[in-house]
Amino acid sequence: ERARLRSLHALPADTLDRVRITLLANIGTPREAEIALTHGAEGVGLFRTEFLFLDRPEPPSEEEQYQAYHHVVEVMAHRPVVIRTLDVGGDKPVPGVQLEPEANPFLGTRGLRLSLRYPDLFRTQLRAILRAAAHGNVHMMFPMVATVQDIFEARQIVEEVKDELNAEGIPYADDLPIGIMVETPAAAVAADVLIREVDFFSIGTNDLVQYTLAVDRTNADLARRYDPLDVSVVRMIAQAASAATGIGKSVAVCGEMAGDPEAIPLLLGLGIRELSMTATSIPRAKEIVRSLRIADAEQEAQRRIIGGLSD
Ligand code: PEP
Ligand code: MG
Repeated sequence: ERARLRSLHALPADTLDRVRITLLANIGTPREAEIALTHGAEGVGLFRTEFLFLDRPEPPSEEEQYQAYHHVVEVMAHRPVVIRTLDVGGDKPVPGVQLEPEANPFLGTRGLRLSLRYPDLFRTQLRAILRAAAHGNVHMMFPMVATVQDIFEARQIVEEVKDELNAEGIPYADDLPIGIMVETPAAAVAADVLIREVDFFSIGTNDLVQYTLAVDRTNADLARRYDPLDVSVVRMIAQAASAATGIGKSVAVCGEMAGDPEAIPLLLGLGIRELSMTATSIPRAKEIVRSLRIADAEQEAQRRIIGGLSD
């Protein structure tokens, strides 16, 4: 079995009717970049940067962050690397940041909201990402976006940081694409409005399922209700996907669903052509993609959208 999956390595992730699918890796530390390549990843679709900030007395310096991002960019060479800005919330302590205790941390100062609330922390990370982007194919992504105002505020700070780097004569990538995670129902429902303000979407189904179904993703008692194939979630994904593809922008899925053999036909049927997942899920995902026809996947998606259970 291992050998069979390994033999897939050199083959493209094409469907039977020759639609090219891009399989990317989610990584949580720089050393996982090599592992991603050995599993056949065509790039990094989600680089979670939380590892740099947690379990330490001080937040990382710009230089330390730059080194970490630069390492991944070097390993990936020309391949895409989507670096996500800090995504922690009120439930996880961040050194150097005095977080108020929150009654509902999942509905609190999470993700981009935290970065906007602590702009110095955000600016340092943005400088490191922009500098690392000068060495490869880097994309920047914001987590936990709910409104277009979130995007305006974040972009404003990116522009200020670019001006700063310019004034200091420090090299950076002026043209790096900026995208958002679609992981709140607000972002999915208003996807057509949000997509105008960004270069790409990446759908974070882990949180999108949680917020759409109002089911805590960490609550084992509710595991049965945490259903990524529920018609409500399928409609959220469909809206986000068509808003992006409708104006020729790219849309990936980077939640666990992207690597789930049961969900892959549905995602392709909804128009998704990029899947980012745990590296070890890539060979199996490639096998699934190579066994599919898009027309069949579209039929499956239509059944799910109208609330049919399929199978
Ligand atoms: C998601 O929410 O689907 C996601 C990819 O982000 P995380 O799991 O880091 O919240
Ligand atoms: Mg998330």
